[in-house]
Amino acid sequence: MKYISTRGDKTERSFCEILLEGLAPDGGLYLPTHYPQIDDATLTRWRGLAYADLAFEILSLYIDDIPADDLRAIARRTYTAEVFGTPEITPLKPLEAGLALQALSNGPTLAFKDMAMQLLGQLFEYELARRGETLNILGATSGDTGSAAEYAMRGKAGVNVFMLSPAGRMSPFQQAQMFSLQDANIHNIAVEGVFDDCQDIVKAVSNDLDFKRKYKIGTVNSINWARLLAQVVYYFAGYFQATQRNDEQVSFTVPSGNFGNVCAGHVARMMGLPIANLVVATNENDVLNEFFRSGVYRVRGSAETHETSSPSMDISKASNFERFVFDLLGRDGAQVKSLFGEVLSTQGRFALNGDQYAEIQNYGFVSGASSHADRLNTIRKAYNDFGVIIDTHTADGLKVAMEHRLPGVTMLVLETALPAKFAATIVEAIGVQPPRPAGLDDIEALPKRVVTLPVDVAAVKAFVESHV
Ligand SMILES: *Cc1c(COP(=O)(O)O)cnc(C)c1O
Repeated sequence: MKYISTRGDKTERSFCEILLEGLAPDGGLYLPTHYPQIDDATLTRWRGLAYADLAFEILSLYIDDIPADDLRAIARRTYTAEVFGTPEITPLKPLEAGLALQALSNGPTLAFKDMAMQLLGQLFEYELARRGETLNILGATSGDTGSAAEYAMRGKAGVNVFMLSPAGRMSPFQQAQMFSLQDANIHNIAVEGVFDDCQDIVKAVSNDLDFKRKYKIGTVNSINWARLLAQVVYYFAGYFQATQRNDEQVSFTVPSGNFGNVCAGHVARMMGLPIANLVVATNENDVLNEFFRSGVYRVRGSAETHETSSPSMDISKASNFERFVFDLLGRDGAQVKSLFGEVLSTQGRFALNGDQYAEIQNYGFVSGASSHADRLNTIRKAYNDFGVIIDTHTADGLKVAMEHRLPGVTMLVLETALPAKFAATIVEAIGVQPPRPAGLDDIEALPKRVVTLPVDVAAVKAFVESHV
């Protein structure tokens, strides 16, 4: 399998060539040249597989520059019951007939980003060792991504992580999750500013090409193809658990921000997995809901980007969305380049024409949005009617899922975080403290490993220089 850019550069690259990369050189995102098609016999064979072996089968269709035995070993090291809590890895939790949650949040940081990031950690260690190279990951986080990256890379040979976060602005639980890591290769940097300051510092350091080359600076953001590929696996795993035969269809509802999670669902559907609808659920930051309802994609400014009770979905633009638009427009890279380059940067929006908009229905996408009040109601409803406590992001999904159920089609709502991570809103909704997984009861009391730095690019660079 080879990979090309969404913006028209037809240079074909292999999986390991793009593994450690972010954007393609022309500014686009990488996609495979085609989607391998899964026939009925293959679906039947995959039904019986353990999660790690299913992961190997899917990964091996997209990765031909890692020997099969090594890739299988990587998948088996990654997807274990010890790390993900159950042998199913992403078990279904039935709510009522035809409706279930698919649990993606039983990894070490209690959010679905572990599903991909844990694999990325194994792949990075493998590939860096093979090349005899090292990598220094520099990132900014306001919560889930940074902790998932740290737990994936901790103790890995050849990798250091430098993670910036806004000092005092993450929840005590989130801070404790990250800052309690004592691994020598994990560096927490609390920046005396807001999240945007952290992001600006990362950009400034990455734009200093000499520094970037000299200190081998890399990232692990959500546009990384390997992360997206890892996520394709759980759509198959969910389908197999929800159905008995290959002629049954299921729908998935996906709490969405940067469109990374649901884009993996799109890939699974393009491979032939019998998915009826992919339901995109957003919060008040409804860039994607607006698009699927009107064909207009409009990026928001920071004044229009709301801080919500489902903070991991608070986005002003959806960084993986370009991948779907590339497929929707018949893989016309020149048109994608124009829309996501010139048009968005000059006008801040683009609109599909009528024919293009009508095409969306062939891809199964529908959408909806929730407000804070909707999420509180849904958390209450899930607790009272089904006896489960769900987090705010999953509540957004469940609310929107209820609006898109089809007769005879099981609806799977992706559970993207555990409620323990967002305890304040759970208490607001139902007056009950969500349970914490075993071993995390006193995490806030653990010793912390973090340095505090001013909003100063030079100070961050100096810290990196003295710790690589
Ligand atoms: C990151 C995240 C999301 C959004 O996923 P995208 O891939 O950005 O669409 C939803 N819920 C939780 C808990 C997350 O951490």
